[in-house]
Amino acid sequence: MELLSLQKEYFQSGATLPVEFRIRQLKTLYQTILAMEEPIQEALLADLGKSQFESYETEIGFVLAEITHAIRHLKSWARPKGRVSPLFLFPSKGRVQQVPYGSALILSPWNYPFQLAVAPLVSSIAAGNCTVIKPSELAPRTTEVLGELIDSCFEKRFCAVLQGGAETAARLTALPFDFIFFTGSSQVGKKVLAAASEHLTPVVLELGGKSPCIVDSTADIPLAARRIAWGKSLCAGQTCVAPDYLFVDRKVKGQLVEGIERELHSFFGDRPERNPQYPKLINDAHFERISALLAQGNLLCGGGVNQEERKVAPTLIDQLPEDSPLLTEEVFGPILPVVTYDDPAQILPYLEARPKPLALYLFTRDKDREREILSRAQFGGGCVNDTVLHLSSPGLPFGGVGASGMGSCHGKAGFEAFSHPKSVLHSSLRLDLPVRYPPYSDHSFSILRCFLR
Ligand code: NAD
Repeated sequence: MELLSLQKEYFQSGATLPVEFRIRQLKTLYQTILAMEEPIQEALLADLGKSQFESYETEIGFVLAEITHAIRHLKSWARPKGRVSPLFLFPSKGRVQQVPYGSALILSPWNYPFQLAVAPLVSSIAAGNCTVIKPSELAPRTTEVLGELIDSCFEKRFCAVLQGGAETAARLTALPFDFIFFTGSSQVGKKVLAAASEHLTPVVLELGGKSPCIVDSTADIPLAARRIAWGKSLCAGQTCVAPDYLFVDRKVKGQLVEGIERELHSFFGDRPERNPQYPKLINDAHFERISALLAQGNLLCGGGVNQEERKVAPTLIDQLPEDSPLLTEEVFGPILPVVTYDDPAQILPYLEARPKPLALYLFTRDKDREREILSRAQFGGGCVNDTVLHLSSPGLPFGGVGASGMGSCHGKAGFEAFSHPKSVLHSSLRLDLPVRYPPYSDHSFSILRCFLR
């Protein structure tokens, strides 16, 4: 493919290597995003009905903060780091330097169509790569604006946006890129990994899954209710780290459900599905899927639909059979299934019986329980007494584990994901101990055993 060859050639020229070059590109990106803030907002409103506040909070502002953080720390991230050599390598010196892979491919989903394309780009530029982005075909307005943004910032040989659907994406993953960063579903993630194996291309997979929200009887229930209601209604639940289901102590379930209902009412009024600040579902197919799920179990609150605007109110449902799709598949929408437990000892076995989730949220005041669950449960990342916010700290690597993905992004972790730690041992010219060379004697063997043990 011509674009890839162009980018490989540009990378091989060494132009992207100086840290000053990378910082200049990040500054250009920052300024162009500021200049295009309005069209980006409009596109996010058209694709997902996101309010100005939500667009800035979770997409534009998020990316700007990621750029600021990268600019501030890039020199230190990119600096070669010395490593102490063991005694048997005396007097050599070890050094590790993060070096760019070369040409990177970013495949992004539709739910945060700006942030999930541009935040990885920030890491890719910071690491010194050339980049091709293939954004989601399901958020067409944002994809179009992204194309304009990248075109006005960069030459194609450095960074380009390619539009297209699954076929284009599959064709791209078959090419010999030097690195692939994929954000999306587990099903497609498997295809990306399989395609990447052809060229042994390193891959980061940022996938989804069912992220539990556990509320025990010691939790601050009113605060838990507010934070859960907020985390679930962001982007109408179409968030990879949205609380996917509630796992709550039966003793506090009634109070929690009432609290969440009250908070949702204070956020969006009687009819969230008519509120202009409440986002819409991405397309008709997704709207139909979520609307059909409303018929499952017992409706606790919400349930309103607005077909014209493709909106479904935040909804709580309980009494679900274990094989309900609400309990077996990622909801990825505004429905929150409620499951209760009677004994906290049930929490870990329940989690262990399911695939490792991207996020886990625990609402508790019990420090022993917090320690036990955080150390024993397997999940990508999460919050204690909050939801979603762990992903907004650039100091915290963000990523899944097992079924929810591999590798991390954001801040330094993103820079490291897009680069390879090149280790070099600088040997001494002055000293050359003969012991390592054949012919081997008993004496040299005993020296070896002395050092290597
Ligand atoms: P998706 O997997 O359907 O699509 C993601 C991207 O992959 C799109 O650009 C699409 O065009 C491309 N694609 C489609 N077929 C492909 C193929 N055969 N080979 C290569 N690429 C292909 O995901 P989606 O529906 O856009 O997003 C929803 C999913 O993404 C949810 O599961 C959600 O949890 C997950 N997600 C994860 C994160 C995270 O950071 N971990 C963030 C957002 C969304």
